[in-house]
Amino acid sequence: MKKALVCGAGGFIGHHLVNRLKKDGYFVRGVDIKKPEFCETNADEFLVLDLRLDENCVKALTLNEGEFNEVYQLAADMGGMGFIHSAECDIMYNSAMINLNMINNAIRKFRVPKYFFSSSVCVYRDMKHGESELSEEQAYPAMPDNEYGWEKLYAERMAMTFGKHNNTQVRIARFQNCFGPLGTWIGGREKAPAAMCRKIAEINGVEGVIQIWGDGTAVRSYTFVDDLVDGIRRLMDSNITTPVNIGRPEYVSVIDLVNTVAKIANKKITIENIEGPVGVESRNFSNEKIYSTGWKSNFSLKQGLEQTYPWIEEQVRKARSESN
Ligand code: NAD
Repeated sequence: MKKALVCGAGGFIGHHLVNRLKKDGYFVRGVDIKKPEFCETNADEFLVLDLRLDENCVKALTLNEGEFNEVYQLAADMGGMGFIHSAECDIMYNSAMINLNMINNAIRKFRVPKYFFSSSVCVYRDMKHGESELSEEQAYPAMPDNEYGWEKLYAERMAMTFGKHNNTQVRIARFQNCFGPLGTWIGGREKAPAAMCRKIAEINGVEGVIQIWGDGTAVRSYTFVDDLVDGIRRLMDSNITTPVNIGRPEYVSVIDLVNTVAKIANKKITIENIEGPVGVESRNFSNEKIYSTGWKSNFSLKQGLEQTYPWIEEQVRKARSESN
């Protein structure tokens, strides 16, 4: 039986990845600074550890019997655009400490055969509406829009360099925005799809107003979590040694996103534009590398939101009844 360590298993994508690895027949140890918020983990073991600390990375990697075949590193100080802009120092310190210590221990000291790192399309520069797609190589010359992207870029380079010198196969995915049930939906770290679902779910009745940051024309693609996890697994089994974009090529504006959620919720929504951190103007990335693994996205934005909105609506209802 193959053994996998999932760092960040208490988080959104990490939790779904644990489920997938269990389905694929792995022994899984999850590790995170917190347990999953919304349901029990399916990992065989779950350690609560702060991975910024060297000794905790050693604990995470040490098994009573045998060694890990694969390490999946998804732990990060992470959030949507509001968080990325307000918590720059935390992101640059906390996520860098996690990556420095995990890469050094997993690759140089424990010499794990395979190491996965979750990067982000935030490593790319800002793009204009209608620009043709960027390939992975076009992350250079580097000019990420935010500090989160710079930290990811350094961690990518460190993982690849340590892999090259220590005979570890390193796989790196640059995720586009990911959404789905069990993702952060409140508290300031939620990303746009969850935030829109929550705002619309919070409206009593069939009509209401929601506020969005900026004019709503910023373009993004949103990838349903099951598709993303499938991409991670395919990439890990592939021979691709350089970073790989993973994202559904369905590019929509924030206004389109709101309208799609409103339709699912069956509510008439009016948008009020307010000042706020909008992030880059547009996105458009090549998926040729991940397609070469046989991956394709199976969930449209609408299909993914049809699974996500009811879950967030349920969380809003529960939170209300608890506060009453
Ligand atoms: P998440 O916040 O739900 O998961 C990250 C997990 O890391 C959290 O459970 C958190 O507790 C854990 N963590 C933070 N600090 C830690 C520490 N010191 N020690 C141990 N664990 C710690 O985020 P997610 O959406 O599941 O993202 C997973 C990974 O994918 C992250 O690396 C993120 O940067 C990357 N990513 C996500 C998206 C997205 O749209 N969700 C897009 C691009 C990249």
